Amino acid sequence: MIGCDHFLANLGDYLEGDLAAGVRQQLETHLAECRTCQVILDSTTKTVKVVTDSGSFALPSDIGEPLLEKIMSKARAEATSQPDSRKP
Ligand SMILES: [Zn+2]
Repeated sequence: MIGCDHFLANLGDYLEGDLAAGVRQQLETHLAECRTCQVILDSTTKTVKVVTDSGSFALPSDIGEPLLEKIMSKARAEATSQPDSRKP
């Protein structure tokens, strides 16, 4: 079982499809169980699309890490600030 740090460390390669099948499987297993990483992946995908504006997931190396950190902290805040018990 891998953790969020491992997932995030490989997120760039995951988006670029540049991972060994075994590693990719590990990340997808984690993703299926981790709401935080689901939010991060979703936010990152959208943000990277906007940033590159090309439909490519390639992360420019100079903005990759700060961008991911920013998204990560935002996504974590969102994931923890939505109580499931709240009903409409
Ligand atoms: Zn996670």
